[in-house]
Amino acid sequence: YVSRNERLERLATLGRFSAQMAHDLKNPIAAMKGAAQYLKVEHAQGRPWDGHGEFLDLLLEQVERLDRVVDTYQRLARVEPLPRPVNLHRLVEGVLSLQAFASPGKVTILRELAPNLPPCAGDLDLLANALENLVRNACEAMPEGGTLTVRALRDGADVALEVEDTGEGMDARTRERAFDDFFTTKATGSGLGLAFVRRVVEAHGGEVLLTSREGRGTVVRMRLPAIDGSRACAEAGEAA
Ligand code: ADP
Ligand code: MG
Repeated sequence: YVSRNERLERLATLGRFSAQMAHDLKNPIAAMKGAAQYLKVEHAQGRPWDGHGEFLDLLLEQVERLDRVVDTYQRLARVEPLPRPVNLHRLVEGVLSLQAFASPGKVTILRELAPNLPPCAGDLDLLANALENLVRNACEAMPEGGTLTVRALRDGADVALEVEDTGEGMDARTRERAFDDFFTTKATGSGLGLAFVRRVVEAHGGEVLLTSREGRGTVVRMRLPAIDGSRACAEAGEAA
């Protein structure tokens, strides 16, 4: 049963989502339209194609951006975990190996992976996307470089993934609103990263904890239910 209020609230949310999605799609589309029109005129006038590389780069860049926008919304729309045993060590390694390409040099990446960690019951893709969001936020908070530490650890009867950075941290208002849909302090942010992280973790029956100090850094912990009595991560070769 869904109450009338809840229905109205869902519609309002849908409206805001659609508005934001339209906004996120319109800019790249406008840029692509402009570049394509320019190239069309050039072509019609029989001008040679060399020297137009930057327009082709722009088209490609914007297509990639559209792809990312669509991905983001798709992920938000279907946060329904397919629970299977997830090996947290592997999850961390998978995400960090991609990150090494995204932010070469400036950021030092440390991993602290507790031994004999039980797997958690979860959806590998969703958890990887959530962790990726935290890692990206951490790197974005350290434009001048710093240390990114990713941990897999025990948390009581649960397990946890933790991302710590030595970046700019958050002020009180940002801490309060960080998980809200569309809240961002970045010029080109979507404001959906942490909202997505929270949805994913809560859909797994877990909890997100945020600690941040302005000018010092930020720690975000995703607590996730462990699978009892299973083999530990280090040995669970096929678990992830
Ligand atoms: P976005 O990254 O698109 O802005 P997020 O939902 O991922 O959206 O984050 C919301 C806001 O929370 C960010 O704009 C930023 O102000 C703050 N924030 C998130 N992660 C960090 C971090 N690791 N350090 C400092 N601020 C952060
Ligand atoms: Mg983000």
